[in-house]
Amino acid sequence: MAYTCPHCRCRLTESRDGDTIFWMCEKCTGCAVGVSVLRRIVARDAINRVWLHARRLMKADQRGPIDCPYCGLKMFRVDPPPGDATTPPLDVCTACLMVWFDPKELEALPPPPAPEMEKAMSPQSREALAMWRLRRLAERDGIGHDIPPMLPTTWWRAVLAFFGLPME
Ligand SMILES: [Zn+2]
Ligand SMILES: [Zn+2]
Repeated sequence: MAYTCPHCRCRLTESRDGDTIFWMCEKCTGCAVGVSVLRRIVARDAINRVWLHARRLMKADQRGPIDCPYCGLKMFRVDPPPGDATTPPLDVCTACLMVWFDPKELEALPPPPAPEMEKAMSPQSREALAMWRLRRLAERDGIGHDIPPMLPTTWWRAVLAFFGLPME
């Protein structure tokens, strides 16, 4: 089994965070994560929404620009909920049950949602969001080097938290 980075074309390295396994590119720090893993570690609503959207795109055969790290076919690009122009899209392969997270797009994440929207999130998503907010504040104040880098699993949760928000 070999996974290839869709950007750098190099082989992805198997990584672990606790019992969570994912495949990471050491050059661009992009990550491939299995849908079954995501179902276990993030809000079920969030990943189900992403998955249903990807299936709709599959039926319409509307493929995105990113190659699946595993099978090499174009993945399905799932956009964030309507009205949210800044959350990065996710790329999903419905055949390999794989989601690609592109960390370069993380800089584009929107400001944290309003408190009443946050209440609708799962505890794990709220925790991830809190971590991410802390990091943004630390970076703004120039003390980013004093806090450890975010684990990939933390930012998956932060990204998927936005996808899991109730739609208007
Ligand atoms: Zn890469
Ligand atoms: Zn695939």
